[in-house]
Amino acid sequence: MKKPDLERVLFTEEQVNQRIAEIAAAISERFAGRPLKLIGVLKGSVFFLTALARQLSIPVKIDFLSISSFGGVKHPGIVRIAKDLDEPIDGEDILLVEDIVDSGLTTRYLLQMLAGRGPNSLGIVTLLDRTSKRLVQVPIDYRGFEIPDAFVIGCGLDHKQLYRNLGYIAVLKPDKP
Ligand code: 5GP
Repeated sequence: MKKPDLERVLFTEEQVNQRIAEIAAAISERFAGRPLKLIGVLKGSVFFLTALARQLSIPVKIDFLSISSFGGVKHPGIVRIAKDLDEPIDGEDILLVEDIVDSGLTTRYLLQMLAGRGPNSLGIVTLLDRTSKRLVQVPIDYRGFEIPDAFVIGCGLDHKQLYRNLGYIAVLKPDKP
């Protein structure tokens, strides 16, 4: 892969792995004795979900959904389910796994949709949180890192579908088209 045009690295692979291990320990403790289902949002949360799941010490199921936005800039947060979950979630303990919560609109939509399916509990875990851009409040249970107002890549986050496989979080040079 072409070396990415980075402005700076925000969190090294070591820092990311360390933080994921801490979050996994907290989740394992909270859900001890209860089967947990992680729901990932394709494609951004795949890398975080996988790393998190591997660190959990409790039995865990996984499922994925995929969304596409069609509200445009005028109606951000209007999303359509492009691929739904494979299984129902009624009566289950669910953690929605996000790569980043930015405005919060996508997460709020997904949370409302999942809540309507009758899970026993429903929480949010996100690798990155950009609270400075929040438009709607969402109750985040676990978060990896707060990040500044700059476009980031790595750990599942892309620029034109590239860079998702980087193990670190970096800011892309702003002049990159
Ligand atoms: P929200 O609905 O919270 O505004 O947007 C969440 C989605 O926007 C994320 O799942 C992600 O796809 C995208 N996003 C927001 N900020 C960034 C960023 O800095 N880098 C990348 N690659 N995607 C972002």
